[in-house]
Formats: sequence, structure tokens, C-alpha cells
Amino acid sequence: MLSGIGPGAELSRHGIDVLHDAGEVGANLADHLDIGVLASTRGREAIGVAPGLLPRVIRSAWAYARHRKGELTSNVAEAGGFAKSDPARERPNLQFHFLPCLLRDHGRKTSFGYGVTLHVCDLLPKSRGRIGLAGRDPTLPPRIEANYLSHPDDIGVLLNGLKFARRVLDAPSMKRHIKAELLPGPQAQTDEALIADIRARAETIYHPVGSCRMGRDAASVVDPQARVRGVEGLRVVDASIMPSIIAGNTNAPVMMIAENVSRMMLGR
Ligand SMILES: Cc1cc2nc3c(=O)[nH]c(=O)nc-3n(C[C@H](O)[C@H](O)[C@H](O)COP(=O)(O)OP(=O)(O)OC[C@H]3O[C@@H](n4cnc5c(N)ncnc54)[C@H](O)[C@@H]3O)c2cc1C
Repeated sequence: MLSGIGPGAELSRHGIDVLHDAGEVGANLADHLDIGVLASTRGREAIGVAPGLLPRVIRSAWAYARHRKGELTSNVAEAGGFAKSDPARERPNLQFHFLPCLLRDHGRKTSFGYGVTLHVCDLLPKSRGRIGLAGRDPTLPPRIEANYLSHPDDIGVLLNGLKFARRVLDAPSMKRHIKAELLPGPQAQTDEALIADIRARAETIYHPVGSCRMGRDAASVVDPQARVRGVEGLRVVDASIMPSIIAGNTNAPVMMIAENVSRMMLGR
């Protein structure tokens, strides 16, 4: 957009010369929204900020330095799974990430004690946002309007996901380790209370895609070879060209996009 490729009216408003009026640049932004169930645990196996942390860190550092073993080898997101928010669906649309620690607000808020977090995210949200300019100064951060939960179907999917995550932690194999649910918390029992919790706490898992949509239609930003329509010699090869968000993590698919486009560029 700063280079003059994007929605003409928006560029002109910021005093940028319009080289190519491409209305969909910045539109169609999709992202994965996620909510976690946090529960304290009876034992001390989890990773936690609690008395005894310092000796544990020292022991772990030693185990890692000497044997490449121990807690420091954990990627923290230790287990995962896929499920359907509704059994009638053909394919999974929920993804779980299980963490042996209490993670609140992306880890920006410290939780004391031992516990676990079961995250669940809506893999195929229908809400769409957009990314635009705050001004013509390239040092300004962009305007990101994610519009999470703006499509009415999305809240129901996360609500079912949250209930599903609770059921997982309530299963006999897990229940014996769980002391108490901390969030959403035992007081949140009705759909209204859970929806309010989702609206207050749901967070991105950093998978923004779609703002330079690939397509065969003339309105798409890039063509099926990732070439920017209306501009010569320019390709976009990143997560933004996904026409819709994929039902899984985005990093490996971005690498596949890069591999495929580089093959196309080499004429293979
Ligand atoms: C905190 C976090 C955790 C994540 N965890 C996972 C995960 O566990 N699994 C997974 O699959 N995905 C994960 N993702 C998502 C994944 O990292 C992204 O989907 C992927 O990196 C997107 O690739 P990209 O090439 O589109 O963009 P990026 O990887 O963001 O690459 C953009 C590049 O452009 C450069 N750049 C920006 N502006 C300019 C400029 N003006 N000039 C030159 N260069 C510029 C940037 O420095 C950067 O190197 C995570 C993302 C985040 C932020």
C-alpha cells in the first residue's frame, strides 16, 4: 500500500500516489482465535511458578547441559489434537494445544502454582477483518482490524470447543490430576457466562492470512502463480496469499507455498 498498490481511495486519503488500484489488498484477513481452560493440579509435575522453583531450574539446567534431557527439553505445547465442534461436520474444525503450565494472556500475566492449560481454537472461522494504513509514514504501525467473532457462527464454534475442552479435563484420566478449574471458573456454567468469558479472554494464536488473496478471478490480489495482478515483475509469497485460512498451523504451509512458487519461477 505504501508503494501505491491497494485500494485507491484509501491510498489517496493518505497522500500516496496510486500506481495500481487493487481494492482487495488488505481485505479478507482471517486468523485463528483461541480460548484456554486453566486448571490447578494436585501434584507438582507441571511447570509452575511456585516455592522450589529455583532449585528445580538449577536441576533442569544441569540435566540439560549434561545430558540434553529434563524439563528444558519441553516445547511446553506438549500435546495436541483435532476435533469437530459438531459431529455432523465432515472434517475437524477445532484444534487443541495442551500445556503443562498455567498460561494467561499469552504469558504476560504470571500465574502462581502448578496447573495445566488446554487451549482450543476455531480452525475455520468465518469472520474476516482487514489491514490498512495509519498514514503514509512507513514507521507507523499498520491498522489491523481483525474483527474476531464478527460472524455470528464463530461464537457457537468456540463455545462448543470450550465445553469440549472442559470435558477432556473432566475425563477420569485427567480428573484425578486436577484440583480446580481456574478459568473460565466453576461459576461460569451457562452459555451466556461462557460466551462472555470467550469475548473477554479469547486470543489470537498468530495465524493471520488472506490479505493478498490468491485467485483465478480478476478481483483477487495475486494470480495462481502468486503474481500481483496489474503490476509486472512482482510476486507475493507468504501467508497473505492464502485465499482462506487453513485448518491447522500456518508455518509449514507457508514454506510449501514458497517451495511451490519457487518451482514455478524456475519453470518446473
Ligand atoms: C508468536 C508466534 C507463534 C507462532 N507459532 C506458530 C506455531 O507454533 N506453528 C505454526 O505453524 N505457526 C506459528 N506461527 C505462525 C507462523 O509463524 C506464520 O504463519 C508464518 O511465519 C508466516 O510466514 P510469512 O512468510 O507470511 O510471514 P513472516 O514469517 O512474518 O515473514 C515476514 C518477513 O518480512 C520481513 N519484513 C517485514 N516488513 C518488511 C519490509 N518493509 N522490508 C523487508 N522485509 C520486511 C519480516 O522481518 C519477516 O522476516 C506463529 C506466529 C507467531 C507470531
